[in-house]
Amino acid sequence: MIELKKMNYEVYPIIVPDQSSLKSINFYLIRTNQSLTLIDAGWNTDECFQALVDTLNLKGLTIKDITEIVITHHHIDHIGLVNRIVSIQPIPIYVHPLSIQRLKRDKDFLEMRIDFFTHLYENLGCGEAGRRQVDFLKASVEKNKHNAIQSSLTPIRGPFLKEFEVIDIPGHAPDQIALFDQTRKWFFSGDLLINHISSNALVEPDQNGKRMYTLVDHMNSLRKCQALPIDIVFSGHGVMIENPNELIQKRLDSVEEKARKLKTLIEQGIRTANDLAQTFYEKSYNNQFSLVMSEIIGHLDYLEVEGVVEKQLIKGVWHYSTKETEDLIT
Ligand SMILES: [Zn+2]
Repeated sequence: MIELKKMNYEVYPIIVPDQSSLKSINFYLIRTNQSLTLIDAGWNTDECFQALVDTLNLKGLTIKDITEIVITHHHIDHIGLVNRIVSIQPIPIYVHPLSIQRLKRDKDFLEMRIDFFTHLYENLGCGEAGRRQVDFLKASVEKNKHNAIQSSLTPIRGPFLKEFEVIDIPGHAPDQIALFDQTRKWFFSGDLLINHISSNALVEPDQNGKRMYTLVDHMNSLRKCQALPIDIVFSGHGVMIENPNELIQKRLDSVEEKARKLKTLIEQGIRTANDLAQTFYEKSYNNQFSLVMSEIIGHLDYLEVEGVVEKQLIKGVWHYSTKETEDLIT
């Protein structure tokens, strides 16, 4: 009789408490007979590094036993320790192809990105607040130079480690991937789904400088996840999520609800993304400008894709109106 050895790998979660609303920074080691894969690499802090070393030591392992790193998306709280680990042990780093320019902090790409946000905030009617954010972005490019990943990056697609399938789940980041084990029904998915907060679909240009409809992408990724047989989501922050479909539905419903509220504001005559953001978010508009603008533009995209609103460029600023209203005017 053939013995089916199902449990052919072990997972060691590394959960580092975080003071922010993220609650914790999570990354994971996957150990098979032949490999020790690190999924994500936390912040670049001594705390995260020590948590990794402690988890390894508990299992009689060291940094030198890690055989490869897989990055779920390019955000700084998921790639922090990569350079440090690779300086101790040169190992392959697997990423989505769209991560490469971002992780290398490619100069041309970052310049294009600043250009993109300059025009975007103008088109959204953000005025001075938009210009301030662009200045902040320019300063960040300088400040974060040293965070560029030094070693070579290998694109990851299709099957991985026999047990896993790499699945694209763009939205929160354009390069976000999940590792899905169909047998165990386990899903390692970065920040697609977080138990205690809804994950932001941050506005981003594609590699050609064209704006992606990131919230629409995020919703499609959530639906993709909903359609898969998943028992546990291993999230980038907070607790692991069992039977995620109810939470996914809650997240999808809250997009609908916010979109409905924005539609009402548009009907009341608030027509630009900037004015909608100030009315809808009040104080947070100043405190969390880029997040707030991502949320507003994402929901406006959704309303546009659903055929509820349309936009018109007036003196360089997009003005939104509901389709019914337009019908009345014409
Ligand atoms: Zn994250």
